[in-house]
Amino acid sequence: MMVNNRKDRILTGMRPTGPLHLGHYVGALENWIRLQQKYDCYFLIADYQALGDHVAEIERIRSAVLDVALDWLAVGLDPKKTTFVIQSYVPEHAELAMLLSMIIPLSRVQHNPTLKAEIAQLNKKDLSLGFFNYPASQVADILLPKANLVPVGADQLPHVELTRDIANKFNRLYGHVFPIPTALVGRIPRLVGIDGQVKMSKSLGNCIYLSDSRETVEEKVRKMYTDPTRKTATDPGHIAGNVVFTYLDAFHPNREELQKLKLQYEQGRIGDVQTKKILADLINSFLDPIRKRRKHYEAHPEEVKAALMEGTSRAKKIASETMAEVKSAMKIHNYEEGLDKITQLQ
Ligand code: ATP
Ligand code: MG
Repeated sequence: MMVNNRKDRILTGMRPTGPLHLGHYVGALENWIRLQQKYDCYFLIADYQALGDHVAEIERIRSAVLDVALDWLAVGLDPKKTTFVIQSYVPEHAELAMLLSMIIPLSRVQHNPTLKAEIAQLNKKDLSLGFFNYPASQVADILLPKANLVPVGADQLPHVELTRDIANKFNRLYGHVFPIPTALVGRIPRLVGIDGQVKMSKSLGNCIYLSDSRETVEEKVRKMYTDPTRKTATDPGHIAGNVVFTYLDAFHPNREELQKLKLQYEQGRIGDVQTKKILADLINSFLDPIRKRRKHYEAHPEEVKAALMEGTSRAKKIASETMAEVKSAMKIHNYEEGLDKITQLQ
């Protein structure tokens, strides 16, 4: 699909709050890797957004910016085909967020279910105005490169919905500037944490990281909850709500074998130790090529730097074009024109 002779664009991103995990892969990265072939992709490292709840942890954000870049390269995002962007290096993100926050109804943000859930996780006194405002910054992030498609995990859907409404509202108020973006949710919309919590999340510390060693993966899988009603390996086991099977569903490449395994488990013919061993092996073989690519980039930091700097400078160009268009549409420019007219009349 092409708009105005250009490839359709993607904008999506991650917060540099820590290294990336399996949830990022199945919820988002897997799609990004596929889509980079066909779309003009902007992948944003949202460091300003991360400040919202990590303002006292600048060092953590600084190292996570590099972790995220390395993780992206390690999973196979190709900086020759795509554009990596550091949010704070393109100040237009902040400028557009400020302008759009003027047309975003406060009540829409107050009722945003994802924001509400995240606020509930925060200590009340840690809730900053900046954090509360992050859906507005996300609207701006998506609209700045005029994205058509936004591949994300399910938790991000309310933000994309808000973006669509605000793009429509802006176009109605000031004339057509923005395409209306569509969300695309990954194969596993929301991967649960290894503790069974509703979402694997850096903030909840319940993750298997893409950078974990083989031993760490084995250790984390060994500690996973299974079926609390099962006392011995010969008791019939339950699949529903069993974290090990949730992960097997996500990572087993062979549906038929997985079906057999589930049957054996339900009939008490296979124990937790064995199913966990199968899962750890599967995750490790999934991670092996990622580990190999990571080694390459760890040995070539100059390539990581080039990906970040070249991408960011491409994004700057697009950003300044959009901002000029936005300001012209809103008539927030050339105030001095009025003075020129007076001068001409005299
Ligand atoms: P934080 O806890 O700091 O917010 P996070 O783990 O939620 O970190 P983000 O950077 O906020 O990660 O999310 C980046 C992208 O990954 C988003 O598209 C989000 O929907 C997706 N994502 C994150 N966690 C999961 C998950 N457990 N399952 C599916 N998708 C996920
Ligand atoms: Mg998040």
